[in-house]
Amino acid sequence: PEPQVKPDPSKKTLVVLGTGWGSVSLLKRLDTENYNVVVISPRNYFLFTPLLPSCTTGTIEHRSIMEPIRTILRSKRGHVKYYEAEASSIDPDRKVVRVFDNSEVRGETIETEIPYDMLVIGVGAENATFGIPGVRENSCFLKEIGDAQLIRKKIMDCVETAAFKDQSPEEIDRLLHMVVVGGGPTGVEFAGELQDFFEEDIKKLIPDISDRFRVTLIEALPNVLPSFSKQLIEYTESTFKEEKIDIRTKTMVKKVTDKAVEAEAVSPDGKKEKVSFPYGLLVWATGNAVRPVVRDLMGKIPAQKDSRRGLAVNEYLVVQGARDIWAIGDCAVAGYAPTAQVAGQEGNFLARLFNNMAKTEALEERIRDLSGSLNLKPGNVAEISREIEETERQLRRIKDIKPFHYSHQGSLAYIGSEKAVADVSWFNGNFASGGSLTFLFWRSAYLSMCFSTRNRLLVINDWLKSKLFGRDVSRE
Ligand code: FAD
Ligand code: NAD
Repeated sequence: PEPQVKPDPSKKTLVVLGTGWGSVSLLKRLDTENYNVVVISPRNYFLFTPLLPSCTTGTIEHRSIMEPIRTILRSKRGHVKYYEAEASSIDPDRKVVRVFDNSEVRGETIETEIPYDMLVIGVGAENATFGIPGVRENSCFLKEIGDAQLIRKKIMDCVETAAFKDQSPEEIDRLLHMVVVGGGPTGVEFAGELQDFFEEDIKKLIPDISDRFRVTLIEALPNVLPSFSKQLIEYTESTFKEEKIDIRTKTMVKKVTDKAVEAEAVSPDGKKEKVSFPYGLLVWATGNAVRPVVRDLMGKIPAQKDSRRGLAVNEYLVVQGARDIWAIGDCAVAGYAPTAQVAGQEGNFLARLFNNMAKTEALEERIRDLSGSLNLKPGNVAEISREIEETERQLRRIKDIKPFHYSHQGSLAYIGSEKAVADVSWFNGNFASGGSLTFLFWRSAYLSMCFSTRNRLLVINDWLKSKLFGRDVSRE
């Protein structure tokens, strides 16, 4: 398509915040010719998060799961702009978004305002730390590409430091103790990837430390993967036992220092005891918290005062108590889990909704024009009336938009040793499976979901490369 430099003043300005699962699903299906579209995100790419845990050990290289937003938007028609910036606040009365350039290179303008007629908020969530002392300063998180790169670097730093001449046995044990806090899917998948890395690569390359490497997964609840079926929880826990990953359930982390995790564990007799886990690497994966820009907006809308986990939306994903603002994905509370699957379906729904709204407006305008011409062309009354009727019929058909309905396809998680667990919905029934076949299903499902053919080929190449030659242990 011809690039359209200037916005069309006859069209509404649709501002989309974020380039994650929700916003990109919307942009992919949106007929951008109907609006002046402005996309704002500090991240100029889409990230395929389901394969992010594999980047922490180099099973997959990080660029294989990134797709530049510029490439995604290149094929869109009409006026579509992208700004690499972070939204700092939203003014729902003046209908403007305040944005700033938070990157390393800055020009003379680093902060400005962007007006909108319609706004979609898809900024996701940040990492929850529950204000536990020491977490922010000492942990790695696992949400963004930079997090995965940092973890990869730190794993090898711990290993090389443990292998350093004259290191004391206690220090070797500490450095090679990898602690993961949070037994949700992020923590479980990361622990599995870590153990694979150790068994398949590090052990062979540095055999002198091979009996000292340990992975511990700490979870406050009585079991890991609370959202999976009981049978798969048991399967995961027994697989972890075989893989020698130590699961500490009913253990709530209370404090973190630079070398140890302090927790309170409930013993089988119900007594509480203090436990300390010295660590070399600590990965914190205890779920989501609300981003400041979302919290700020919630504070400005009285109808949001009782919402805690994000922007409460109605069944059309409209932010409750606001006009012309929609929210999707992890920053929206629509009654579903914060997953890519939900965010993607919400984005698709909004694209359909906005495409329909534009068509509705065009048809309404056509009816207005036709009605106006009834008086001007008395000889054509019958013909014009027929056309009005037909347009009204079309309008009724498309105006009838059903509310958003989430269709759950199932949950999948990798648990290490080429095994995966899957809770899949099939023909209104649920099907739970775990093991090596499920692992093949997991790989093919995620491969088919990758953003582009380019991503798919890169991921296959990475899997083959790490299988044939081992993972690359160089510390960049
Ligand atoms: P995100 O995808 O997080 O995107 C948010 C976007 O907003 C980003 O582009 C970000 O840069 C941008 N942004 C942030 N702040 C601002 C701001 N102030 N202004 C403008 N833009 C901003 N879910 C599954 O269903 N299946 C899985 O297998 C799965 N695996 C996962 C693995 C990991 C390691 C993680 C962390 C999550 C996983 N999830 C999975 C959950 C899934 O990634 C999220 O639910 C999903 O990303 C939510 O989509 P979103 O669009 O709301 O947010
Ligand atoms: P989560 O919210 O699913 O799990 C966090 C876990 O941390 C909880 O089980 C909680 O009990 C525990 N926890 C909290 N505070 C703690 C403390 N102080 N000490 C010990 N444990 C503590 O978080 P997640 O795994 O990051 O997942 C976030 C979302 O992303 C979820 O909706 C999840 O379904 C989705 N996700 C899905 C997949 C997948 O489908 N494979 C993978 C990753 C993430």
